[in-house]
Amino acid sequence: MDNKERLRKWLWLGLDETTAKKYQRKISAENVRIVRNESVAIAGIGALYTICMLALSRVYGKSVICIIGAILMFCIFLYTQNLVKKQDEISKKEARISISSFMICAYVVSIYVGTFGSGNELAVTIVSLFVFLPTNFDLLPIYNLYVTIIALAVFFVSSYISKTPDKFAYDVMDGILAAVIGNFAAFERAKIKWESVKVHEQLEEERDVDMLTGIWNRRAFEREVDYLINSGTIKNMVVIMVDLDKFKRINDGYGHETGDAYLKHFCNLISEYTEKNTIVGRRSGDEFFIFSYNFRELSQVEHNVAAFYEKLAKNPILLPDGTEKVIGVSSGVVWTVDMNHDWREILCAADESLYYVKEHGRNSYTIQEYIPK
Ligand code: GH3
Ligand code: MG
Repeated sequence: MDNKERLRKWLWLGLDETTAKKYQRKISAENVRIVRNESVAIAGIGALYTICMLALSRVYGKSVICIIGAILMFCIFLYTQNLVKKQDEISKKEARISISSFMICAYVVSIYVGTFGSGNELAVTIVSLFVFLPTNFDLLPIYNLYVTIIALAVFFVSSYISKTPDKFAYDVMDGILAAVIGNFAAFERAKIKWESVKVHEQLEEERDVDMLTGIWNRRAFEREVDYLINSGTIKNMVVIMVDLDKFKRINDGYGHETGDAYLKHFCNLISEYTEKNTIVGRRSGDEFFIFSYNFRELSQVEHNVAAFYEKLAKNPILLPDGTEKVIGVSSGVVWTVDMNHDWREILCAADESLYYVKEHGRNSYTIQEYIPK
């Protein structure tokens, strides 16, 4: 890794660029919620600062930018509040608009203080701190750095033009202090946030995916089918119950490790077979279920099942003793075009069909329409 690459990795908080961008997308929606709270804080500080200025009667009229800045930030707060209320997922574009407009307002207030807030170093520090803190929108840290550099430059130029050299020197000190604290806080916060997205993703995967085979576990499969059916976009469905034939013999004859490899081999084949509109899950042990929906005609279902059995026949597993074994499976396939039926009832029917196949020779399947009892 050369230095350039190392620096890049550091700027993306140690993640590679693609992963970092993926997290950034998730986080930018969340940031709108943060803007909501921070714009209140900034608007509050702006208003307080303005009231103090007015109360001291020092610079009547000059606080107008602070007032406008505070009002604008409050408007952005209302806008984001509305966005969050209306939809759960906020698009990247909306998040960007809201964040950028908020930042522009914050900078306007800061430039105003840089220009007119002479003699009040404390206010300059506080306001510039609050200007730099909101840059921690957890966009990629590199953006944070660019934004800080531009903001500092604008702040210093406005301060340099309007003040005496020694007052300008104070502003330089205040500005740099604020930028360092602000960026440090931003970096730490972004790191925590990205870590939590990573952990959340990992937990989701651990919860939903069967660790041995890599396909969905029973809970995730059932949840997904319920979700699909409730979405009202399904016109017909096929439920398939699959059980490996004489799998115990593999375990007993070759050991559990080979048994595991056997299950994995089967799941790899089933995953390759999976077309769109099909979900596969591990129900338990050597039992799997498949849910397929919106087939064009029944012949398509028949063709798919036959093609899967062909695929199994063509892809035997190599066992430790050198023999090649075709994985035998029994399946019960039940379909319906009447979406008023409960899919769990259809699953029971598929289960019964499966046991019929088991009792009548195994390594085969039956296909039938669902007939309620
Ligand atoms: P049948 O044709 O009647 O289905 O016979 P079978 O031997 O396949 O019987 P059954 O389906 O009842 O057996 C399932 C076996 O799967 C029992 C259990 O020891 C084994 N099993 C369940 N989960 C795992 C696993 O994760 N790994 C391995 N290696 N074996 C498992
Ligand atoms: Mg079995």
